[in-house]
Amino acid sequence: MPAPKPAYDRVLLKLSGESLLGRQAFGIDFRTTQAIAQEIKEVHGLGVQIAIMIGGGNIFRGVRGAAEGVERVSADQMGLLATIMNGIALQEALEKIGVMTRHVSALEIRAIAEPFIRRRVLRHLEKGRVIIFSAGLGSPYFTTDTAAALRALEIKAGAILKATKVDGVYSADPLKDPKAKRFNRIRYIEVLKRGLEVMDATAISLCKDNKLPIIVFSLKKRGNIQRVVLGEGIGTTVY
Ligand code: UDP
Repeated sequence: MPAPKPAYDRVLLKLSGESLLGRQAFGIDFRTTQAIAQEIKEVHGLGVQIAIMIGGGNIFRGVRGAAEGVERVSADQMGLLATIMNGIALQEALEKIGVMTRHVSALEIRAIAEPFIRRRVLRHLEKGRVIIFSAGLGSPYFTTDTAAALRALEIKAGAILKATKVDGVYSADPLKDPKAKRFNRIRYIEVLKRGLEVMDATAISLCKDNKLPIIVFSLKKRGNIQRVVLGEGIGTTVY
């Protein structure tokens, strides 16, 4: 049987910091990180070029710090550093199983990660290296979702694959409202109008203006990244 053909040549996978939590309430669960790395390796093996934007919410979120009285810019800087720690963990996990990677940070931290130079990142991808983007956009008041949207556009990814805890976009929080309905497809404008929690409004607007599809899917079921890449129609497509 011929190998299944991916629906995308190049994707940007957005992993929240929470995806590395496993059963923990805080921090990095290395077994979970390794399991995610294994899934990424399988998708990479299909010949898909992969860049990952890693979040930091498992360690620190700027808004939380700000709510507790830390100056917002300082709090966001702590959040940015959290994403770099996650980036190191993910890089370790991928390289342990033989996947070549490059960690690219938007904050200059040369002993740990490369700076973002678009042409260099494109070259890495063409050479089959998985890119791990950390430190979002390197500026406060942004999220790693917005950073994911911008980098996806810059590297001309075919889609953003937004891995979450739920299996798509719902009309309400499915964990709270049993009547919540799941969408197979939904327009960007609907997401914005209804204030649905997919990605923040800046990220959605950027995708909308540039017609970059977002596929929201659950990372909880093993093999889902591959299902999305093979175009199996799981999750919700925001278009
Ligand atoms: N952050 C920031 N600028 C960026 C991206 C992230 O200041 O461009 C900070 C912000 O404080 C945020 C934290 O880093 O709360 C972690 O990122 P995010 O909340 O997006 O992580 P996720 O929810 O994906 O785990």
